[in-house]
Amino acid sequence: MSDPAFPRLRADVSTLPRYVPGRPAPDALVDKLSSNENPYPPLPSVIHAIEEELGRLNRYPDPAARELTAELAAFLGVPAGHLVLGTGSVGITQHLVAAAAGPGDEVLFAWRSFEAYPLITWAAGAASVQVPLREERHDLDALAGAVTDRTRLIFICNPNNPTGTAVRRAELERFLDRVPREVLVVLDEAYREFVDDPEVPDGVELYRDRPNVAVLRTFSKAYGLATLRVGFAVAHPRVAAALRACAVPFGVSGPAQAAAVASLRAGDELAERVADLVAERARVTQGLREAGYTVPESLANFVWLRLGARTADFTDACEAARLMVRPYGEEGVRVSIGAPDANDRLLKTAADWLR
Ligand code: PMP
Repeated sequence: MSDPAFPRLRADVSTLPRYVPGRPAPDALVDKLSSNENPYPPLPSVIHAIEEELGRLNRYPDPAARELTAELAAFLGVPAGHLVLGTGSVGITQHLVAAAAGPGDEVLFAWRSFEAYPLITWAAGAASVQVPLREERHDLDALAGAVTDRTRLIFICNPNNPTGTAVRRAELERFLDRVPREVLVVLDEAYREFVDDPEVPDGVELYRDRPNVAVLRTFSKAYGLATLRVGFAVAHPRVAAALRACAVPFGVSGPAQAAAVASLRAGDELAERVADLVAERARVTQGLREAGYTVPESLANFVWLRLGARTADFTDACEAARLMVRPYGEEGVRVSIGAPDANDRLLKTAADWLR
């Protein structure tokens, strides 16, 4: 017979808030603007690369992902030894926290930010320390002020999920200069490719002469490979070695490795799609503002509407218009930038809802 007390698990596991993924779209007529996915299907060259791998599904993938690592090293201009691949950047996030923090330690991040941070911190047995956003942006002074001798890792999500806001070079450099060198700073740049403001620094430039800085990127968003689960960290050898030690063996599948290589080689085609999404982001932001919404400047592939108690009602109105958006309790709604017709419907729905 099953006994609810056994097997013994950590007592707080049942009270942990769950990661709330965007729900799958119920049918093809619904546009899913709830998971910051790329609305465009994979390029033919990427599908071809995946198909070539299918005859090898009985074999384990290359555990060192040599071809992808070499391509990425050349693309980013970093030593191959500074790259660690993982099952999406969220997989690497887990390994970073596991490598840096445990019971008695603190992991520091802004809130609201990517909701995996508190869950992963909990799983490592460490404590989350959350510093409220100020005007929807990272409050870097407050974050620096919250560092204690127990702080082991700080996440800076740039641009921030779910607000889309980004920190600029001078403020981020000042912050990094203030953080003690024993604390690992993780620049989560899952949405980096959508940044079109030159004042927003490229983490790969910032990490170079800072051994306590690591950068996270993903193939899930701009590269449109969310299903394949492939992301990576750029980090100095001490951190990279710790990440490899924590990694899940064979975590990145053969089709994922091949698709990522093909995507890097199709960089120009993908960049056009990213440019289209960035243009749509400007159109959506402007349309929402003209309709009367307050929309923080987003540099990612989504926008944030702080609707407070009206969050659920707005979400329902979108659903009635066959649009899935991502509500956050009674805080607000995050809406991913979709294809133009979905964005049109969003703008119309949002304008009608305010009337
Ligand atoms: N970081 C941030 C800020 C994200 O928003 C996401 C995806 N929602 C991830 C990391 C993880 O992406 P993935 O695991 O697909 O690479």
